[in-house]
Amino acid sequence: MIKRFFGSGRGDKKKAAQVTQDHAREREQFSKLLAAIHATRIQDRMAVLDRFLGVEHHLTLSGLAGLMLDCDPALQDIRFLRDTMEMFCQCGFARKRTFEAQETTYEHQHLGDHHDHFICTSCGKIQEFHNSRLEHLQMEIAAGLGFHALQHKMEIYGICADCLSRRETNLPLTLTAMGEKVRIVEIRGEGSMVGRLASMGLRKGLMLEVINNNPAGPIIVAMQEVRLALDSEMAEAIIVTHACSHPSNSETEG
Ligand SMILES: [Zn+2]
Ligand SMILES: [Zn+2]
Ligand SMILES: [Zn+2]
Repeated sequence: MIKRFFGSGRGDKKKAAQVTQDHAREREQFSKLLAAIHATRIQDRMAVLDRFLGVEHHLTLSGLAGLMLDCDPALQDIRFLRDTMEMFCQCGFARKRTFEAQETTYEHQHLGDHHDHFICTSCGKIQEFHNSRLEHLQMEIAAGLGFHALQHKMEIYGICADCLSRRETNLPLTLTAMGEKVRIVEIRGEGSMVGRLASMGLRKGLMLEVINNNPAGPIIVAMQEVRLALDSEMAEAIIVTHACSHPSNSETEG
C-alpha cells in the first residue's frame, strides 16, 4: 500500500494523464534499448514492463508474479522476473528498494522525479514524500562541506497515522516500537514483579526510549543514561503511553 504526499502544482487528474504519457514514452524507449543490447525474450520482457508500469506502488517480485497470473506460466517465473527487473533497473526504468525488515521492492524511476520514504514498522506501509526545502537543505549542507552530492535516499521509520490511531493510549511495553519514547503510566502485576521493577528504578512517570523491541529477545530500553534489558514478562507488566514530542500536524510541502 502506498500514499503519495506530493505538494501543490501536481493536481491528481493532471498527474494521472502525465503518468500515462510518461509510461507510453518509457515503453517505447525500453523496447529500443532491449533491441540495442540484443536482449532475449523481448516480447516477454515488454509484457512484464507493461504490468510493472500499470501499478503506482512499490512491488515485490511475488507481487509482480501475482500480476502476471493470466500470462504464460514462463512469465511468472521468479528468476525470469528478477532478471527482467534487474534489466529495468540497469536501464533506469525501475529502482530497487530494500527497506529494513522488508522484502525487496521495485518502483518506477521517472527521470528527474525524486522522492523519499516513510516506512511504518508496524504495518509495513510505505509512504512517499517530496519536500523541496529538505532537498535544498541537504544540498546546502553538502556544499558547506565541499561535498559534491550525486544521489541520496532518505528512509524514515516509524508508526503511520492509521496504526497510531488504532492503538490504545496506554499499552504494555511489549507493544511499543523501536525508537519510540514512552512514559510509564502504571506497573501491573504481583508484588514481587512490582518490587523487581522498582529495584531496577522503574516506576510510574518515568520516560523510556525503546532501543530494541525484538520479539526473539529481551526488550532493551534506555532510562535516562542507563540501558536495561527486560524479559517479556517484565515488559508486559509495564504500561506506557506514547510520549514522543513532535508536531502533531506536520505539513509536507512539495
Ligand atoms: Zn530526497
Ligand atoms: Zn502502519
Ligand atoms: Zn517510492
